[in-house]
Amino acid sequence: MIIGKSQREIEKMRAAGQLVGRVLQQLRAMVEPGMTTMEVNDAAEQMIRDAGAYPTFKGYNGFPYSICASVNEQVVHGFPSGYKLKGGDIFSIDVGATLEGFVGDTATTVAVGKVSDDRLKLVRVTEECLNLAIEQCCAGNHLGDIGFAVQSHAEGQGYSVVRDYVGHGIGRRMHEDPQIPNYGKPGKGPKIKKGYVFALEPMINLGSLHTKTLNDGWTVVTVDGQPSAHFEHTVAVTEEGPEVLTLVRTPVREKLVSAA
Ligand code: MG
Repeated sequence: MIIGKSQREIEKMRAAGQLVGRVLQQLRAMVEPGMTTMEVNDAAEQMIRDAGAYPTFKGYNGFPYSICASVNEQVVHGFPSGYKLKGGDIFSIDVGATLEGFVGDTATTVAVGKVSDDRLKLVRVTEECLNLAIEQCCAGNHLGDIGFAVQSHAEGQGYSVVRDYVGHGIGRRMHEDPQIPNYGKPGKGPKIKKGYVFALEPMINLGSLHTKTLNDGWTVVTVDGQPSAHFEHTVAVTEEGPEVLTLVRTPVREKLVSAA
């Protein structure tokens, strides 16, 4: 069942979304060659707790960390570790926070140092896929319109769309109905209604779409070892169209200082 949100609930989700969006912006800004992915995790957890929120991922189905840290051929759900990021890596950071009972969920892929053109293009196209998905989040459209927008753009560039993991409804829980595939047919699937809130998250591979999970039980990698990129926003369907709750509109530094 898809849980529609009231105006008041969307207001709370906006607060959670803005928090997690600011955290992700700060993380993006701090990533550089030589930094470990665990340092990024620890910074995220600190910022989330300092804001009076909880890192939603931590303990979720037993996931042990506050962010998912997925480097290069890792698609999603990578464990932060002592791995030192190096120039040429693409690093996907996924972060969630629960604030006053509501969850915000957002992800980005960062180019570390100097990155090859083919990887940079993969990152850019994946972000474009997310933006195209967001544009489809209007009352009266169908879920298939979202998937179709992502799939046509990604495949049009010669990339493949991960099928094994999908976007999702979000609210008091991180994963609510519906599942939101990044592939589909226009006009198909459930109708999108005002008050729905979705976590849209295209996962796009340079090579084939096939993935497997490592022995840690979490880290998802491409079977062919080719890189993968991932972008995510939490988006509310409003009367005026899509509102991206995790998109930060105010300067980050200012906001964090005033919150301190
Ligand atoms: Mg998500």
